[in-house]
Amino acid sequence: MRRGCLIVVSGPSGAGKGTVCGEFLRSCPEVAYSISATTRAPREGEQDGVNYYFLDRAAFERMIADGELLEWAEVYGNYYGTPLKKIEEKLEAGTDILLEIDTQGAMNVKKKFPQGIYAFILPPSMAELEKRLRGRGTDAAEVVARRLEAAAGEIAVAKEYGYIVVNDKVENAVQTLSSIVAAEHARTDRNLETIEAIINGAGAGEEA
Ligand code: 5GP
Repeated sequence: MRRGCLIVVSGPSGAGKGTVCGEFLRSCPEVAYSISATTRAPREGEQDGVNYYFLDRAAFERMIADGELLEWAEVYGNYYGTPLKKIEEKLEAGTDILLEIDTQGAMNVKKKFPQGIYAFILPPSMAELEKRLRGRGTDAAEVVARRLEAAAGEIAVAKEYGYIVVNDKVENAVQTLSSIVAAEHARTDRNLETIEAIINGAGAGEEA
């Protein structure tokens, strides 16, 4: 069976990657979402086991020690990490899985999964990014300032990604991301078995 695609999405906070990924997942219910573990406190409306697995530092460090994380990073003073087991299960079952992780994590995953789809969500401008961060109102001014400073550094890493998605309008960005994933599914190197099956007289998706 064809393996699923690993879809890795990063972008500075305020670029709207949460919204874009959320809408993308709604429009493609067959794509799984990788729920990260984190030591940061839940924001209003966030649920354990839905948005994140909210852990204390000791529990997170236990996961690191037990090799349960594909990658982990410290972002703004908190740990964030990607549980490995679900990724392996989904890819093995032929299901695509989306990871919304920071640039450090994404670059570590890229070393292990160079065949993954790496997309970086960009704001249309830095001025717009600042506006969105301030308007969000979920974080203290000091946190906003830190995130803005980090954004410039993160955007420099965009060049390491296979694709960029400029989030001028959410629906455009979702459309771009969907097109990227559709094109990746059609790559020759992901479809060698399909080609063989057709050559051998079976149709696409059928056993030769
Ligand atoms: P937030 O606290 O706003 O939810 O996320 C802060 C940053 O951590 C974002 O850039 C987000 O993409 C990143 N992040 C979320 N989960 C993970 C993860 O599992 N691994 C890594 N490396 N970064 C993550």
